Amino acid sequence: MNIHEYQGKEVLKQYGVAVPQGKVAFTVEEAVQAAQELGTSVVVVKAQIHAGGRGKAGGVKVAKSLDEVRTYASEILGKVLVTHQTGPEGKEVKRLLIEQGCDIKKEYYVGVVIDRATNSVVMMASEEGGTEIEEVAEHSPEKIIKEVVDPAVGLQMFQARRLAYAINIPDALVNKAAKFMLALYTAFVEKDCSIAEINPLVVTGDGDVMALDAKLNFDSNALFRHKDIVALRDLEEEDEKEIEASKFDLSYIALDGNIGCMVNGAGLAMATMDIIKYYGGDPANFLDVGGGATTEKVTEAFKIILSDVKVKGIFVNIFGGIMRCDVIANGVVEAARQLGLDKPLVVRLEGTNVEIGKQILNESGLNIVAADSMADGAQKIVNLVK
Ligand code: ADP
Ligand code: MG
Repeated sequence: MNIHEYQGKEVLKQYGVAVPQGKVAFTVEEAVQAAQELGTSVVVVKAQIHAGGRGKAGGVKVAKSLDEVRTYASEILGKVLVTHQTGPEGKEVKRLLIEQGCDIKKEYYVGVVIDRATNSVVMMASEEGGTEIEEVAEHSPEKIIKEVVDPAVGLQMFQARRLAYAINIPDALVNKAAKFMLALYTAFVEKDCSIAEINPLVVTGDGDVMALDAKLNFDSNALFRHKDIVALRDLEEEDEKEIEASKFDLSYIALDGNIGCMVNGAGLAMATMDIIKYYGGDPANFLDVGGGATTEKVTEAFKIILSDVKVKGIFVNIFGGIMRCDVIANGVVEAARQLGLDKPLVVRLEGTNVEIGKQILNESGLNIVAADSMADGAQKIVNLVK
């Protein structure tokens, strides 16, 4: 789950991570009032959307007077920001962060992630802050320094200091930077984050070390023990179909393509997306209906796919192990009965109760193209949507 920058900064503040003072605003009036209350000569007006790259897209503006705050706030609120992380359709700005302007001496990068290669939490840092870290990783990977954290003891002071030195934090501020990193690490672990990214971390003219941006992602499987974090969820930032899917405990991720996929098991779902791509198609979603799904759950899953206007055809690829093929068949038929089915549907069923499943589909009167294998099914659906 994602939260907004201003919320992330509030969470980090609880752990002693230094952040500029700021206030959220939902209207232009609130923005001006927030700037007045901050009382600093320079304030920054920042679009709050669940995506980075706002600065480049015109979503971060430095204001030197209340009039400028008013101008920028009216410009940015309601604007559809298109950044490299929003996709071409962009995201409408509905909230602003009005923040104390910071006298930046230099920008750095610090991120905490779960690293699958080392099965550990890794803290990464770079002196190339403020820019896209993906670019740094591609063009000058040696500029990203990593510390692997032993989970039994957590991030150690010497590791944090080593990182701070390696990214050339001024000597006098190394201890401050190291403390910042330790606090960030503690927040990451205690709040069950999957990502905690500070880009940029800055050194200021007054000799402070601060987080100017904050991106926190949380492990959805751990949210049950973080009621305070769940309360920060902004449903308007999330895909409607994904919200619907989460109500039924389905693993669903919306994608940009036009082939709807209904699959059981995350591995098979990934492989199905790969094979669709291999034959020149584009999946519209990742969907794992899981092992013990009921007919009702399958029906809802199929309805979510049908409700996606981008979907031009559907590929059902099921390997019935714990999941039974007849349950899938009933769900497909039920959803098609409720919503109608006017798109090509290719079904590949294999495994437990496959004969009953096929019979249900055959007798349904639906126009279904049967596939003998995964490759066969992928080719068929790719051709049908062309
Ligand atoms: P994004 O990563 O979405 O572009 P950031 O919060 O990183 O947004 O802001 C982009 C840039 O704007 C920063 O790299 C920094 O140079 C500047 N900036 C952001 N917040 C402030 C602030 N409070 N004071 C001064 N400059 C800021
Ligand atoms: Mg940033």
